[in-house]
Amino acid sequence: MVRVESARYGLRGGLALQPSRPEPALPFEEAPLPPLLILPLQSRAGEAALPQVQVGERVLRGQCIARLAGPWDAALHASSSGAVIAIEPRPVALHAAILTVPCIVIRTDGADSALPRLPPCDPALMDRVAVLKRLAEAGVVGLGGAVFSTAAKLACAVAAEVDTLILNAAECEPHIRCDEALLSHQAERIAQGARALAAFLGKPQVLIGLKETLDSAPLEAALTAVGMDEARIVRVPARYTAGAEDILIRLLTGREVPRAGLPTDIGCVCLNVATVAAAGDALLRGEPLTSRIVTVIGPGLARAANLVVRLGTPAADLTAACGGYTDQASQLILGGPMMGLALPDDALPVTKASQALWVASAAQLQAPQAVQPCIRCGACVEVCPVRLLPQQLHAYARSGDAAALEAHALDACIECGCCDVVCPSQIPLVQTFRDAKTELAHAQGQDHRAVWLKSRFEARAARLEQLKTLRENRHQSARDQLRREDPRARLARLKARRQTDDTPPKEGAP
Ligand code: SF4
Ligand code: SF4
Repeated sequence: MVRVESARYGLRGGLALQPSRPEPALPFEEAPLPPLLILPLQSRAGEAALPQVQVGERVLRGQCIARLAGPWDAALHASSSGAVIAIEPRPVALHAAILTVPCIVIRTDGADSALPRLPPCDPALMDRVAVLKRLAEAGVVGLGGAVFSTAAKLACAVAAEVDTLILNAAECEPHIRCDEALLSHQAERIAQGARALAAFLGKPQVLIGLKETLDSAPLEAALTAVGMDEARIVRVPARYTAGAEDILIRLLTGREVPRAGLPTDIGCVCLNVATVAAAGDALLRGEPLTSRIVTVIGPGLARAANLVVRLGTPAADLTAACGGYTDQASQLILGGPMMGLALPDDALPVTKASQALWVASAAQLQAPQAVQPCIRCGACVEVCPVRLLPQQLHAYARSGDAAALEAHALDACIECGCCDVVCPSQIPLVQTFRDAKTELAHAQGQDHRAVWLKSRFEARAARLEQLKTLRENRHQSARDQLRREDPRARLARLKARRQTDDTPPKEGAP
């Protein structure tokens, strides 16, 4: 029987933003197929994937339409059949900003014809490289918002020989309930994926961090059905930031991810439950990632629902599937109130990172207020889940003191926004930290370039100096030899060489 227990380690800081009791379930349904799909070639800051199709080409659901060069980079697939009508820059919500990036635009044909599925790739029977290759080819990435390649993450986990696989079902931000829907309606997908990944990793302990207000029964039954009785479900507080990767690992295991380190440094790999389900689909059923569950919610909509959505579906099609806007609709936000991004319009598409679409009313949005000076109340310090000193960081960021920001671990800030929420002076702390991080990264980039150029210059100078010394040594030893040689012997040697030089070459000689 699967064990269900409470987290042994406490949560630092954070905020109680959600009801401490289970909320009424939302309808769970498939979203209608949209007429247009907009699939960005870039999912994080960095290189854009290379298109594998051309404008005018017909594509099938599950067909790879773009890929990056790295062996474990995740591919991108057409999420329905149709014709590629454009490959052009479009605005997309990426990480913490709306950016205009190249996108493949598909006009769907309504047939939703798919490529045949790939054969199963069971990690219990296949070698690890084949498994990683399958995950990358199937486009599996972290569906908890990070969208980091799952194959790359698991390759690190294998190299580090991790002993713990953690499934993240803590879903701690208000209005995001997509994992709840997955746990209630498709728990068997999670269990099958977990068993496959546990086999791949060499049978580590499996811990599932489950929000305390969610029902564990469907997951317990699904884990038992696939023979994973040894997995443990650990209930975690329904408190914001409990679902942040490093924090969840500490809650479940007591292990601390080192600063600037990775969970694999402490023997853990942590994956969102939706990622685990997608990995199971890719490995056991040969299905690439073409859809995800999105919570569509808010007083600005006729109704709320958890929708299974094709990747690339514009936000407008999701709001239409939920009965359209109400008079209260004021702002579209992709994500939750803490880390979500305000959308400029509803033409922007759902990506692999989109967990929720929140249509907020004006009353739910805080009107901008005048920023007051810091009163050093310490409220921001109390809520910081990573034990930073936000008021100090803010002061250092304002004065541009890079050394102090480094010393006070700005890089450890997870940009959760807890300090912003409690600050009575309305200081935009998180935005200041984001800007400071960007500036530091830029400055470090400049520093790295300067260091690199200097090291190249020094290496060249050293090389030239070495050549000069070698040449001088050679000349000196030749001079020494001449000095030591008997003058008559030297004369004879020179004569012999002259004769050799004057002798005509033999016929046929080269
Ligand atoms: S919460 Fe705001 S006012 Fe209070 S110490 Fe922090 S930054 Fe200053
Ligand atoms: S945004 Fe950064 S500094 Fe503020 S509470 Fe979160 S982790 Fe701490």
